[in-house]
Amino acid sequence: DQPTPAYRRVLLKISGEALMGDQGYGLHPPTVQRIAQEVKSVQDMGVEICMVIGGGNIFRGLQGSAQGMERTTADYMGMLATVMNALAMQSALEGIGVYTRVISAIRMDEVCEPYIRRRAVRHLEKGRVCIFAAGTGNPYFTTDTAATLRANEMACEAIFKGTKVDGVYDKDPVKFADAVRYDTVTYDDCLAKHLKVMDASAIALARDNNLPIIVFSLDEPGGFRGVLAGQGTYTRVH
Ligand code: UDP
Repeated sequence: DQPTPAYRRVLLKISGEALMGDQGYGLHPPTVQRIAQEVKSVQDMGVEICMVIGGGNIFRGLQGSAQGMERTTADYMGMLATVMNALAMQSALEGIGVYTRVISAIRMDEVCEPYIRRRAVRHLEKGRVCIFAAGTGNPYFTTDTAATLRANEMACEAIFKGTKVDGVYDKDPVKFADAVRYDTVTYDDCLAKHLKVMDASAIALARDNNLPIIVFSLDEPGGFRGVLAGQGTYTRVH
């Protein structure tokens, strides 16, 4: 009864906020475990999985710099926050028997692996989930850009962006009852209409490499697995 996945290797991008549940801050372990289950159910279909998790539930560079902190320092703090989230996800995944590696763009050899592309590819081939941490390793970037970069480097067929809603809308569906969801939308429309998909540099990088972005709801149980099999509602950015 295993649905056939339409993809062989994908990258799942989630924001840090996705891990905080209904709390206003930090990590909510039951939520982390729930997402880990979603990842496992996709891995059980035989799909190779990369993950990039944001850090906004702990620290955002822009917030820090708005409060007078030097911008690049604040961005490094944001990158460190993503490492904490990656470790929490690693722990949850390994708790349910999924082998993982946390791979950081900033070296911290006692904690996780450094990013070496060929090594990461090998992990995927061996069925390990690669959780890419510390963003791109550079200030002034976001984890959306990191997700697009790693997805390209790992030759993923698509980025799956898990959000609170089941796709891309013409306006905020939480605020406007008449918001309309797109089934598909072009990269250029996302940029021109400022649609809330990913930041502009991430979308441009995806566009330049023809990497589709699938926006779907991670709140829907079984959503990730369904979308991988081409079921349910989602928006395909291409
Ligand atoms: N960040 C960075 N370079 C990167 C990725 C992230 O400087 O390549 C910093 C940046 O300060 C950002 C923070 O890490 O605010 C957390 O990442 P992001 O805002 O993308 O997290 P999300 O919104 O997805 O939770």
